Amino acid sequence: MSKVKVMRTIKSAVAKSPIGLSCCDLEERVDAYLENELGWPAKMKIRMHAAMCRDCTSYLRAYTATRDLVRAAIRTEAEGADTLPDDIARKILERKKSGPEDGAA
Ligand SMILES: [Zn+2]
Repeated sequence: MSKVKVMRTIKSAVAKSPIGLSCCDLEERVDAYLENELGWPAKMKIRMHAAMCRDCTSYLRAYTATRDLVRAAIRTEAEGADTLPDDIARKILERKKSGPEDGAA
């Protein structure tokens, strides 16, 4: 059995268990999770799923980055400034340098 197959089997077994959740469940709750609106059992489920699921780890990372960019853009617009805040510009540059697959998991 290949490593990918093993991970897929574990993932589906956990998703079907009472403590687990599927990739779709995580997607539905990601906003509430990042906004800290979930109770700890729901947060734990998401963390456990993300720890095993590379797709969802990437998804969470991309979602957070996008949300930060949108917020920064809204803030910048509200302030009437025409430049990106330094911390956002730095994040973008760092992301470009490391590439999408930085293997940090
Ligand atoms: Zn997943």
